[in-house]
Amino acid sequence: MQEKITATPHVVVVGAGFGGVRAALLLSKMNVKITLIDKYNYHLFQPLLYQVATAGLSVDDIAYPIRAIFKQQKNVDFRLAEVTGVDFDNKSIMMDTGTIDYDYLVIATGGMTNYFGMESVAKNSFGMKTLDESVVIRNHILSRFELAAHEKNADKRRALLTFVVVGGGPTGVESAGAISELTYHVLTKEYHNMNFKEVRIVLVEASDKLLAAMPESLRDVTVETLIRKHVEVRMCIQVIDYDGELLTLKGGEVIPTQTVIWAAGAKATELLDHLGIEQGSMRRAVVNEHLQLPNQPEVFAIGDAAHFIQNGRPLPMVAPVATQQADIVAKNIKSLINGKELKKFFYKDMGSMATIGRNAAVVQMGNFKTHGFFAWVIWSFVHILRLIDFRNRAVVFAKWMWDYMVYERVVRIITRKK
Ligand SMILES: Cc1cc2nc3c(=O)[nH]c(=O)nc-3n(C[C@H](O)[C@H](O)[C@H](O)COP(=O)(O)OP(=O)(O)OC[C@H]3O[C@@H](n4cnc5c(N)ncnc54)[C@H](O)[C@@H]3O)c2cc1C
Repeated sequence: MQEKITATPHVVVVGAGFGGVRAALLLSKMNVKITLIDKYNYHLFQPLLYQVATAGLSVDDIAYPIRAIFKQQKNVDFRLAEVTGVDFDNKSIMMDTGTIDYDYLVIATGGMTNYFGMESVAKNSFGMKTLDESVVIRNHILSRFELAAHEKNADKRRALLTFVVVGGGPTGVESAGAISELTYHVLTKEYHNMNFKEVRIVLVEASDKLLAAMPESLRDVTVETLIRKHVEVRMCIQVIDYDGELLTLKGGEVIPTQTVIWAAGAKATELLDHLGIEQGSMRRAVVNEHLQLPNQPEVFAIGDAAHFIQNGRPLPMVAPVATQQADIVAKNIKSLINGKELKKFFYKDMGSMATIGRNAAVVQMGNFKTHGFFAWVIWSFVHILRLIDFRNRAVVFAKWMWDYMVYERVVRIITRKK
């Protein structure tokens, strides 16, 4: 069904992630009509997906209904739909549920897992980009322990108990640390007959660095902490194949394992491949200094969907880029409506942080850097504050406190065996 554009400018925001939600909230303060489209009905806090995957948090702790976010914003309409294309000439968006016209468009569709063309790895390993994927990982990890507990064959048992995480960025480091916590702080108390020396947690990274954006001293601390937590850190080594049972590394080493979590890369969502637009690194939409698509002044791209060059390099695919770009896009749409000059975007890097399990994290903010317990407290509070709703913040805080005090992971529920 075709929708008619009213006299009030109609802004369509595609994607209710970090960038899309922020843009829609800011735009809602203006005299515009906004349609926010997402293929899911919830906003997802992706940085804590690994905690769902390792039984620390439940799905509704890190996801929040989009309609609830916008209950006060009467000029925001939500559409549960997948966008499949854009007709830029006619300013019309194609969705799986119909079409809708726009005056201004913000593409904030985020990213997806990048397997760098390795089909066998894509087919057999676990990506961690969606809520469904993290629940599948949780079910899988917990099921491996159940199967191993009664497996008589030692080789099969070791393969069940070998967990490989690929990618030494924050997601890989945090996932490996969390699997270690789950194993050595929680499950050791309950699997009375299991030999936990048979458990192997391996973190594989192709480059010579973990947490490449961090200063060297914090990178060293990260490696030492992981090793202390029984994680094998393997750097300068590439994965070349995985058939679901055997992981093959470049150089010929083979690791028998039923669990490979792929945290080694992201690229823009497939939608961008179908728009006929210029794409840059990781297939992101090339944007100009005002975050507009070249030759499409009414169309903006932000966050993981946007390829923006600053200081000669594309910006990283992280949440602060998306929210800072949302701020500028909201201002620039207002300026376009009022015939004013547009603002240029400049990313202010606030630093980075990663947790490595209980009591351990690394934090870098400008010249300030710290690690250990204090860094872990900072990490915890920053993440709690960044959650979108008070209920989520309160529940996550309570669960973390409970886990901290009693060494428990409350969400150890296997909802599906396969
Ligand atoms: C496991 C994990 C851990 C991370 N940890 C951190 C971290 O610690 N710190 C940090 O800064 N960043 C982290 N990131 C990256 C961060 O989450 C992203 O950079 C950020 O989410 C990008 O925001 P965005 O608004 O561009 O896209 P997203 O937040 O990804 O939102 C995109 C939205 O678009 C929707 N969408 C996509 N395609 C379509 C379509 N065709 N039709 C309709 N809707 C669509 C999606 O459903 C989604 O809701 C992590 C990411 C992952 C996966």
